[in-house]
Amino acid sequence: MRALPALGLALILAACRPDGEVLTPHRLFAMATWVDVSLPPAALEREPDLIADIEAMLRQIEGDYYAFGDGELAAMNRSLTDSGRFDATPELAGLVAQARSIARATRGAFDPGVGALVELWGFAGSDVPTGSPSDEAIAATLAAFASIDALSVTGTRVEAPDTANAFLIDLGGIAKGFAVDRIVAMLESRGVATALVNAGGDLRVVGNRPDRPWRIGIAHPRSDGLLGTLELESGEAAFSSGDYERFFDDDGVRRHHILDPRTGYPVAHTQAVTVIATDGALADAAATALFVAGPDEWRSMGRALGIDAVLRVDASGRIDMTARMRDRFQRDPEVSSDIIAAAD
Ligand code: ADP
Ligand code: MG
Repeated sequence: MRALPALGLALILAACRPDGEVLTPHRLFAMATWVDVSLPPAALEREPDLIADIEAMLRQIEGDYYAFGDGELAAMNRSLTDSGRFDATPELAGLVAQARSIARATRGAFDPGVGALVELWGFAGSDVPTGSPSDEAIAATLAAFASIDALSVTGTRVEAPDTANAFLIDLGGIAKGFAVDRIVAMLESRGVATALVNAGGDLRVVGNRPDRPWRIGIAHPRSDGLLGTLELESGEAAFSSGDYERFFDDDGVRRHHILDPRTGYPVAHTQAVTVIATDGALADAAATALFVAGPDEWRSMGRALGIDAVLRVDASGRIDMTARMRDRFQRDPEVSSDIIAAAD
């Protein structure tokens, strides 16, 4: 993560409410990123265990839904590959069903079936690789691609057709949004009326600030500054995908962790995408999908997902956005913001 989010924190500290309450950030490390939950101090006086409960929940999510570990998702992948079925928890079954419907709506631009390709490129762990796999290895892995589209979910039973291909479903493109939604649900169930949940630059707000809308800085994909700021309303999530957080240089070609499942290679036509939605999981997956979609498809794919506020920066640095995003976006990078949105 870059230095900017710390600046965002300083600005949050100054975010006074009329009754004098200040939102205080509480920082946890989970899912390979810093998660800041900013709350009015009174919330913790009422609910002293809240942060510990959020942390325990995040530990469960990062363990269960990490494809390359030994939790429930890894068990599902093994079981689908070996026997073609798996009895999941209701939560995982729901997440798989949501991910599959997004994969269908995006005609495979978003497809968690990319796990084997993610592993081949060296992006399964938190390290950044230093070199690319061979074209032959990519072609072989692509030939054995097992799409999430093949799975069926009936209640909590997940089934796969009889296939020679191994399933390696990687929920890394949606799990952070799912986790943010779970945190927001927990805050709401504990009576927290105003909060900001920021998972490495992907965030969701609870309630409205009394003085002005929430204002979110959008990280510039090629400099330490901002592209501009955007305004959020209660309940909204802003999620970004970019080629500037996890990448390496391969003889002048930038290689990063968002892969086009249809080609097997990192996407080269886009630097960054930011979307606004009211569901964090959808926003997360949509940012990944619209990043992969490319110049001709991103608008129609956004519509297919029901997302109307999208900002895209293409490979040359040109900014394009939907009308709804234009209503929310201010180009002036000097405007002070509550937090910085970035594609961590
Ligand atoms: P981040 O959360 O790191 O900012 P994303 O939300 O775009 O970025 O998720 C990227 C992660 O999603 C990758 O690390 C990989 O695990 C997975 N992934 C990569 N390409 C795709 C894709 N086309 N569809 C679904 N998941 C993907
Ligand atoms: Mg995503």
